Amino acid sequence: ADFRTSEKSWWCPGCGDFGVLAALQKALVELGIEPEKVAVVSGIGCSGKIGNYINSYNLHTVHGRALAAAQGLKLANRELTVIAAGGDGDGFAIGMGHYMHALRRNVDITYIVMDNMIYGLTKGQTSPTSEHGFQTKSTPAGNVERTVNQLQLAIASGCGFVANGFSANQKQLVEIIKRAIQHPGFALVNTYSPCVTFNKQNTFDFFKQHLTNLDEDPTYDRHDRFAAMKKLMETEELVTGIVYEDPNSVRYEDRVAGYPAEGIVNRDWSVDPAVWQKLVDQYK
Ligand code: SF4
Repeated sequence: ADFRTSEKSWWCPGCGDFGVLAALQKALVELGIEPEKVAVVSGIGCSGKIGNYINSYNLHTVHGRALAAAQGLKLANRELTVIAAGGDGDGFAIGMGHYMHALRRNVDITYIVMDNMIYGLTKGQTSPTSEHGFQTKSTPAGNVERTVNQLQLAIASGCGFVANGFSANQKQLVEIIKRAIQHPGFALVNTYSPCVTFNKQNTFDFFKQHLTNLDEDPTYDRHDRFAAMKKLMETEELVTGIVYEDPNSVRYEDRVAGYPAEGIVNRDWSVDPAVWQKLVDQYK
């Protein structure tokens, strides 16, 4: 399988999103999934272009609504590997309502967030994950709001797979995405994906200096939900790796009584001729 396309990239040279795209393509190849069995559903923003650059089904939806469309798609066709993708502005500002409910619903999709801590497409405004004090065009005196902590929110809301990657650490990101796709239920893969054009503060070098890799800590227990939350709350550093993984996760699809195992589109909707005849006879 080859997930590359000939589509010319619109992203700025050096954008972190290239690393996320490459990791996703590699993860899908290594998992042996065929392109016609993959759907990438994105929102609006620079990151929303990711579906254009990958050889799979691509649904480029409206701002903040990628998760709603992705969940519906998965429920209709369980054979598809559904990847929702977007940025921090798309997902955690206008999309926050969908985010919270997707976390607790647990439909079997993977949500990849390219977090650059700024709005890139609209040319550099403060986003929900921008750091306190961050100066942008929309906050020239510095950001006075606290940042959204999407990882803590995910754990608090019952999400069964919470991970954080870095677009410059391909090896780790590929493994995280593979594991997220295999996880039975909603999987969050947040990635630090620097905007080289508008965010001069949270650069590749900044992340290299501030990231702590949980995957390299043998004492860290990723199956302990309370420990995961404690780690996120107490650490001064930004973490990467699989922060939390619920070994007992049960998909939404498997919790709904009577939900067809084959999904909706693959169900045999043809009507039994005997049933038709009965209807016809009734109105004779
Ligand atoms: Fe990437 Fe920033 Fe350019 Fe958008 S503006 S493509 S996020 S570098």
